Amino acid sequence: MVHLSVVVPCFDESEVIDTFHTALVAALEPTGTTFEVAYVDDGSGDRTVDRLRYLAATDGRVRYTSFSRNFGKESALLAGMRMARGEVVVLMDADLQHPPALLPRMLELRRHGYDQVIARRDRTGEGATRTVLSRAYYRLVRRFMDVEIVDGAGDFRLLSRRAVDSLLSLPESNRFSKGLFSWIGFDTVSFTYENVERAAGRSKWGGRRLLDYGIDGLLSFNSRPLRLAIHTGLWLFLSAFVYALWIIANALLDGVDTPGYATLITAIVGLSGIQLATLGVIGEYVGRIYHEVKRRPHYVVRETDRTAGLHRDPGD
Ligand code: UDP
Ligand code: MG
Repeated sequence: MVHLSVVVPCFDESEVIDTFHTALVAALEPTGTTFEVAYVDDGSGDRTVDRLRYLAATDGRVRYTSFSRNFGKESALLAGMRMARGEVVVLMDADLQHPPALLPRMLELRRHGYDQVIARRDRTGEGATRTVLSRAYYRLVRRFMDVEIVDGAGDFRLLSRRAVDSLLSLPESNRFSKGLFSWIGFDTVSFTYENVERAAGRSKWGGRRLLDYGIDGLLSFNSRPLRLAIHTGLWLFLSAFVYALWIIANALLDGVDTPGYATLITAIVGLSGIQLATLGVIGEYVGRIYHEVKRRPHYVVRETDRTAGLHRDPGD
C-alpha cells in the first residue's frame, strides 16, 4: 500500500523528466511517506517514453501509461488518476513549474483534514499581455459559471481519495478539470507560491490553444450563454416593436416621407450579426451533445509499465 500517488502528465518532456524525477524523490524521501509516481505520456513525439521505460526499470515506485497520440492534458490527468492507488493523490506538471519542494507542506495541510490542497502560482515573470488577458478571462468566467474558479489555481493540487473517486465518477467526456475540481466541493485550502519558469523544453499552450481552452471553460459548465442569447433577442424584439409603433404614429400624423434606407441597413446588419452569433452558440452546444453521446473513451493506451515487457525480446 502506498500513501501518496503523484500524477504527472508529460508531453514532449524528455529534456526535463529525469531532473524532475530526481527533484521529486529528493523532496519526498525525507518526509518518510510511501509514494508512487504515475507518469502519463500524452503521445509525445520525442523520446519521453524511453525515459519513462528507463525510470520504471530503475525505480520500483515508477509506473507509466503511454497514449497512442496526443489526447490533451485533461485526458492525461484522468488516466493518471485512474492509475493512482494512493490514499492521497497529487497532480503536478513535469516541467518543474510546480516545485516538488512544496509537497511536504501540501501533505501537512492534508493531515489537517483538507480534501483539496491547491498550490496557486502568482504571476511573476509572466508577459504583461497574458496577465491582463487572464485576469479579464477569470472575471468573465466568474460571471458565467456556477462553480468558482480562482485565478492562478491550476492543476497543482493534492486530492484525497474520496475527492479523486468523486472526480472519476463524473461521466462527461469533455473534461474541463478546473471546473470539475470546484464542482465536487469538499474542504479546500490554497496557498500561493512564486511562479517559476519552465526548466527546459517549451510551453505547449500558444494563443490559439489557450483561446480554445477558454471557450471550453465558459461553455462546459452551464447554459448561461444560451440564456444570454435569448435575452438579447427579446430586448431587440422589444426595441424593434417600439420603433415600429413610432414609425406608424409618425406616418399617421405627418404622412409617409421617410426613405429609411440607413435604418434598414443598420437593422439588417445588426440583426444578422446577432443571429449568426446565436446560431454559433447553439451549434457549440449541439456539437457538445454529439460529442458526449458518442461515448468514446478519453484516450487510447499504447503501452504501460506492465505491457512494456511484452514488446521486449524474452531472450534479452
Ligand atoms: N501536457 C500534456 N498534454 C498536452 C500539453 C501539455 O500532458 O497536450 C503536460 C505537459 O507535459 C506539462 C503540463 O501538461 O507537464 C503543463 O504543460 P505546459 O508546461 O506546456 O503548460 P504551461 O505551464 O505553459 O501552462
Ligand atoms: Mg509549464
